[in-house]
Amino acid sequence: MIKVLDEKLINKIAAGEVIERPASVVKELIENSIDAGARKIEVDIKEYGKQLIRIADDGHGMKKEDAELSILRHATSKIGTEEDLTAIITLGFRGEALASIAAVSNLIILTRPKEDIEGFRLEVEGGRLLQKGATGCPSGTTIEVHNLFFNTPARLKFLKTDTNELKSIADIVTRYSLLYKNIAFKLAHNGHTLLNTHMSDDWLDSIAAVYGAESARQLLPIDYDDGAIRIKGYISKPSLLKSDRGWQNFYVNGRYVKNDTLARALYDAYHTLLFINKHPIAVLDIRLDPSSVDVNVHPTKDIIKFSENTRVYDSLFRALRHTLQENDLVTDYSAVPGQASLETPRIPMPKLDTMPGIAKKEPLIHGSEKQIRLETKQPSFETREEMQKLPRMRLLGQIAKTYFLAETDDGFMIIDQHVVEERINYEKFMKQFMGKNVATQTLMKPILIELSPEEKIIVVEHSSKLKDLGFEIEDFGDNSFMLRTVPTLFSRVQPKELLSEVLKQISENKKSAIEGIQEKIITRMACRASIKGGDDCSRPQMEELLKQLDRTELPWTCPHGRPVIIKFSKDEIEKMFRRKA
Ligand code: ADP
Ligand code: MG
Repeated sequence: MIKVLDEKLINKIAAGEVIERPASVVKELIENSIDAGARKIEVDIKEYGKQLIRIADDGHGMKKEDAELSILRHATSKIGTEEDLTAIITLGFRGEALASIAAVSNLIILTRPKEDIEGFRLEVEGGRLLQKGATGCPSGTTIEVHNLFFNTPARLKFLKTDTNELKSIADIVTRYSLLYKNIAFKLAHNGHTLLNTHMSDDWLDSIAAVYGAESARQLLPIDYDDGAIRIKGYISKPSLLKSDRGWQNFYVNGRYVKNDTLARALYDAYHTLLFINKHPIAVLDIRLDPSSVDVNVHPTKDIIKFSENTRVYDSLFRALRHTLQENDLVTDYSAVPGQASLETPRIPMPKLDTMPGIAKKEPLIHGSEKQIRLETKQPSFETREEMQKLPRMRLLGQIAKTYFLAETDDGFMIIDQHVVEERINYEKFMKQFMGKNVATQTLMKPILIELSPEEKIIVVEHSSKLKDLGFEIEDFGDNSFMLRTVPTLFSRVQPKELLSEVLKQISENKKSAIEGIQEKIITRMACRASIKGGDDCSRPQMEELLKQLDRTELPWTCPHGRPVIIKFSKDEIEKMFRRKA
């Protein structure tokens, strides 16, 4: 027998979609506070959100009548017509969050518009009205959610561990606090403050309040506008990478979203700047015509669809790439992963303010700016043609037959000679290869090579791709082949060795399409053809390498993301010698 379910049961079922867990309550209520124009949002959690979630804002509040309507399903002040649905400019629009939360908890709303003298209190439990009436309260809205899921024991049972729930709550508050710099956010659990941000006009300042000042120092600004799409934000230098994607924040028209197109553009822009399994930080505020974004595809509204995916991808890619190409991405010594932070020296320093007889701020070590300034002699290699991307430098020489040492205006740099040439070779060859005109060198004497059956299969199967890469190979019967040309750029390597390196790459990646691994092949060849650690390098050679490095697009890392240059700033050196705290 088919029955039409009653309103209360419908609400309980619908709640399952929007409100999966305590963090979904926090998300919906924060979004409501933001929509209400709040400048201050305080989130108090008890027992991982299961006992209490309390969100207080100083937004525009609700009139008595509105407060009563707010807990009804499909009751919203944010849209009115079907047309409105095609261009959403608020975070909420379905009018179902409060109804859903009210269906599965004990919900109390306290609210007062600024212009009213008296506020209004409403209490609902499991969707049933318990109490309502006038009350005194601060202007704005406070929502208390007690005993979440008290009447849906199955949902309660399926919650992840307590710490996981708390992490998700902190995560969503953090993400919104990163974007809304003009709102002060506070999050506390069982009375302990977990996050506390202040209103700030300086976006980087407010990011620093969340991610730390040290991280903020290594962020690069994004500022892009092509008329249709505007992108502002920050991304990290390749020297500041994380081991998961959790530090990536995409906002579309003010909404925190998860979106593959945006993530893909981010990774593609960093291409070859990322070390394997490392992930950049990103805080990206993307604005575009709301009618070209569908936010109504998922109950939790954080999954969206763009009507013009490629366009959005292109704009974001261009914006990010521009910033990565235009900025100095030299790795700072203090940012090298695994490097003991200079701010926490391993040997404890005596605390100045606890030592008798020494005034609080007076330094123990006396050294004026002048005394510790690096002596700048007449430069032996002042970059003759002004460097475009690399910092101005004075080449001092080579150490351990592996690294160049150079003085800069602000300290010194160590440069890995192998990685320098690897980057140069990689980019040069990539350019030729993508332009389908790899320069080849015809061998004076073609080389006869004997291939294993497996290698033979590869050569026969991929002969045209190998030709694109610069290898012309002629079948000579049985397992003999004649190698006639090699790519000029790599002709320094023994032709046989170079080819066998390429065949090895193909055979090791048998399962991938050749298109997918051609870059690996090129990276491999670039590596083989580059000067090694331990090789002598004359001064003119060093100068030439640095000049060519400066002309690459991304002179900062090898194609695998290892740094080319590590910089020691004068500031850091002074800290190391404890001339400076
Ligand atoms: P939606 O956000 O989709 O409109 P909700 O169920 O989340 O639906 O909220 C219903 C309505 O209650 C909102 O449209 C808004 O008018 C009002 N409201 C909810 N929270 C607040 C708040 N913090 N401040 C002011 N008004 C609010
Ligand atoms: Mg809402």
